[in-house]
Amino acid sequence: MRIACLQLNSIIGKLQQNISNANQIVETCLLKLDKPFDFLILPELALTGYNFPSRAAIEPYLEVKAIGPTSKWAVEMSQKHKCFTLVGYPEWDETCQKIFNSAILTGPDGSILYNYRKTFLYESDENWGCSESENPIQFEPFELVLNKGFYLDNEPKLKSIICNIGICMDLNPYKFEAPFGKFEFSLSCYQNMSKLILCPMAWLSPKSPSIQEDKSIVLPDQIQEVEIKYDTGFKQKAEETKVNQGSLPDMSTVNYWILRFLPFLNHPGVDLPRYYSKVSLVCCNRSGQEGDVLYGGSTSIYQFKNVSDPPSLETGIKNNSVEYYGSLGTAEQGIIVRDLDLE
Ligand code: GLN
Repeated sequence: MRIACLQLNSIIGKLQQNISNANQIVETCLLKLDKPFDFLILPELALTGYNFPSRAAIEPYLEVKAIGPTSKWAVEMSQKHKCFTLVGYPEWDETCQKIFNSAILTGPDGSILYNYRKTFLYESDENWGCSESENPIQFEPFELVLNKGFYLDNEPKLKSIICNIGICMDLNPYKFEAPFGKFEFSLSCYQNMSKLILCPMAWLSPKSPSIQEDKSIVLPDQIQEVEIKYDTGFKQKAEETKVNQGSLPDMSTVNYWILRFLPFLNHPGVDLPRYYSKVSLVCCNRSGQEGDVLYGGSTSIYQFKNVSDPPSLETGIKNNSVEYYGSLGTAEQGIIVRDLDLE
């Protein structure tokens, strides 16, 4: 399965601009590939922007599932490239009159396969009036049929896997109040026997002024003059077009995401039977800044493997059960493409 993550610097409220930017990056990327990607993933609220200050501010950008602009874009993208598309958007549910932070998944024929609503909210979500998912099953898994012929040629279901979607804060302890070791999201994925975990994000940079004690901190130069990165070097280290800080990932974030999946690691503190030979995790973050919020990029792709080596105390990319497929930089836009064996 060829997976492509599009790390976008979404401009808040500039839907058309974000759409053409995304389209352009995707089209250019396709020209560089010998074979198109099968799965395209975008960040949280990728086409509208994320940090809306109020409900009134986000109101014009709310979208009804399946008919709003993000859903339409995903359907078109899927149909055009015969791929799965997963993208975040601010959902308006007419029936319950509530706003949700959602991600829509479309299949290779453009059919809508799944709509996930964020379960754990971040303060920005609350600022714009978002509601928690009302799904009685927290972090509900779903079955994803992988053979494209199932969607395109009436082929039977030949291969399917259990999949979970998590949106950004879902990876953290609930409201930052639950015990760190509760691992709500990753343990649910484990219990669901998920093999593919997809996370659209608007994850903050640790340097974001919004989360510093000292509010007078000046924003670092974001989106420096780096070219858009097309990292199609399978399992090779990304070639840096220009070496500057922004083209490197923030390794504390890359490792923190792994730490939040401790139940999947070969670690002395974990004693869970393995139902898998590998589980894939895709974290697709955005870059750029919105007001005093600075995003951390570092979009990353990993697999957790069932290894027989002795447990390792490492909780990041150095853990011997982690296969790390690479990341994009903190302050760049771009796309990272990798071939993953989904077993
Ligand atoms: N805690 C996450 C962060 O620091 C949550 C952000 C979000 O949910 N968008 O980035």
